[in-house]
Amino acid sequence: MMTYKIGVLNGDDIGPEVVPVAVSVIKEAVKGFDDIDIDWQELPVGFPSYLERGETLPEITLQTLPDLDAWILGPIGHMAYPKDDPKAINPHPILRRKFDLMSNIRPARSYPTIRSLHQDVDIVIIRENNEGFQPDRNMFIGQAEFMPTPDMALSVRVISRRNSEFVARTAFELARQRNGKKKVTAIHKDTVFKIGCGLFMETVREVANGYPDIQLEDRVVDTFAMNLVMKPQDFDVVVTTNMFGDILSDEAAGLVGGLGMAPGLCVGPDYMMAQATHGSAPDIAGKNIANPFAMVKSAQMMFACLGEKKKDSSLVKAADLVQQGLDKVLRDMKAVTPDLSGTAGTHQMGEAICDGINSFA
Ligand code: ATP
Repeated sequence: MMTYKIGVLNGDDIGPEVVPVAVSVIKEAVKGFDDIDIDWQELPVGFPSYLERGETLPEITLQTLPDLDAWILGPIGHMAYPKDDPKAINPHPILRRKFDLMSNIRPARSYPTIRSLHQDVDIVIIRENNEGFQPDRNMFIGQAEFMPTPDMALSVRVISRRNSEFVARTAFELARQRNGKKKVTAIHKDTVFKIGCGLFMETVREVANGYPDIQLEDRVVDTFAMNLVMKPQDFDVVVTTNMFGDILSDEAAGLVGGLGMAPGLCVGPDYMMAQATHGSAPDIAGKNIANPFAMVKSAQMMFACLGEKKKDSSLVKAADLVQQGLDKVLRDMKAVTPDLSGTAGTHQMGEAICDGINSFA
């Protein structure tokens, strides 16, 4: 019997709607496996935590997470937090940084039943998570964005060999595992950022030497942004630095049905965190119309990855069942949310995914 300790951090706005759906879907999938036991631990985070405890990332959460195998982080609506209170911080960059979650794995896949710009899209973008241009996480102490004078702003970009190597390795391992094109496309702008993108590409090429079965190609980010819109079918696994990955993964989500269809998994050497690409979508919060796909798929990726890591074939099978349940709901299109042109609510779509799982279990 394997026991997994899994954290549940609901987050803000649509978070308390989509995260419980992800948990109930996973519970349904593991039900038939006597050798899997999950100890779910709900932990405070975000604005509900601020209202209750005066902190968006309380000590109890930070102390508990290191003891867990993995956790689900719901979307965070930090833009609505009070600006003048240091206890109202944006928790997700801190969690990504503190737990060294360098690779953010973001798939974008088209489904024939879902209206999208292209069909036959199946790509995964690996975005570096903890450095690049993002000033809220790329420094040990202090912020990487500052104003030397009232009329000048500077932003410092960080690229390290260590993080570049980790994301490149994530990309090549994934390209090897997938039944895809056995290709990694590295995105950069080394024509201009000769040193920063230069170091990134030098590191990616070094990692590629260890994967002779996988082809490495590279594209300049602006060319790739166009290629992605015009012919996304040309790509399989894509690896890039933080800011480029942030933008390109939203672009990829837009190609296949929008942010409700955009899952994500943050991984590092020791921990993993399921976190959908979308934000907390305050415009649709509390209406029971948020698409739970991205959150459920993020949790599915986390359990598949945990199963591989722990060599637990039952957990891998349970994760496969979740995928089958998701595929069935998107094939049938009887219980999908309004963003997918359906009329189902968030919970109804979650129940349909559970029914789908039961039809395969
Ligand atoms: P952030 O910068 O925090 O990532 P964002 O600016 O990307 O947030 P989101 O909160 O992701 O913004 O929302 C962008 C749009 O996508 C909104 O109109 C929202 O309604 C829609 N959206 C996001 N997530 C979902 C979802 N799960 N289901 C349906 N629509 C969604």
